[in-house]
Amino acid sequence: MPPPNYYEILGVKSDATNKEIESRYRALALELHPDWHTEANAGVDKRAKMAEVDVAFKTLSDPTTRSAYNGWLTLSKDSGETPEFVKSQSKFARAPAATECMFCAYSPAIEITLKREIGMVFRRRRIRYHGLYCRDCAMALFRDTQNATLLSGWWGIFCAPVNVGTVVSNYREFKRLREMAEPTAPTVPVTVERVTPAPVGKPLVQRSGVWLTPIFVAALLVYGVHYLPRAFERQGFNYQVGACVTMNASDVTGVVSCAQTHNAKIVSIGATQTECPGDTTQIVKEHTGDAQPGDIACLDDTQ
Ligand SMILES: [Zn+2]
Repeated sequence: MPPPNYYEILGVKSDATNKEIESRYRALALELHPDWHTEANAGVDKRAKMAEVDVAFKTLSDPTTRSAYNGWLTLSKDSGETPEFVKSQSKFARAPAATECMFCAYSPAIEITLKREIGMVFRRRRIRYHGLYCRDCAMALFRDTQNATLLSGWWGIFCAPVNVGTVVSNYREFKRLREMAEPTAPTVPVTVERVTPAPVGKPLVQRSGVWLTPIFVAALLVYGVHYLPRAFERQGFNYQVGACVTMNASDVTGVVSCAQTHNAKIVSIGATQTECPGDTTQIVKEHTGDAQPGDIACLDDTQ
């Protein structure tokens, strides 16, 4: 069984804010204090546990190491490898050069920043990935991140516009890494956790996120075209020839059956007032400005 990752050690979600991480760390530090006895941590090696918590906190509280650790977690999740980030770094025989991938030490490598958005109705969270990646490790990370963003980034009030920005910025990184040469193994031996670049995984078009977006946009369009005009229509009155209206001065206040108390009868409906018949005594405009059939109701207040 792989050891718990740093998020699990601290007991926070992978999209936790810095504040959440910090307050959780404080709580754990208090709980694991040598003088602090609770039933839950009876028999726990508090010193060893606290050392674990310290490493986890040190990694996650610094945005740079956190974004690198996020990449490590994502890239090692499919391989069954242990995401022991700090441990793996200490296993480097030499520090990886600025042209070598931080995960597999293949080269060339460039600095890549990818973002994953999580929309939650009223809130929005972002997981950031930043580091020195070879083409394949970066591609694996891009496919995972972009797919997840396309799936989970839309669902909130202010999320959609931000998500468009993130999708575009991830795509720009993708264009950069697509230009990169095929990764080659390091010539000077480097001991790293992952001995070859990460498997790039299924292309984006074979993942659900890419298809969700057009469906989402289509649903918005259908809503816009179909339901919104109806919503506006409902604000007006449903004029029908032969029905009657109640009025307050020259404003229509309601459409009623002519059997009920009314002020005038609708004798005709048209686009312009010239279409009104001779017995018209009043004209009401439903929408001022645009002449659509049904916009003008010709009324006879003697009926
Ligand atoms: Zn790599």
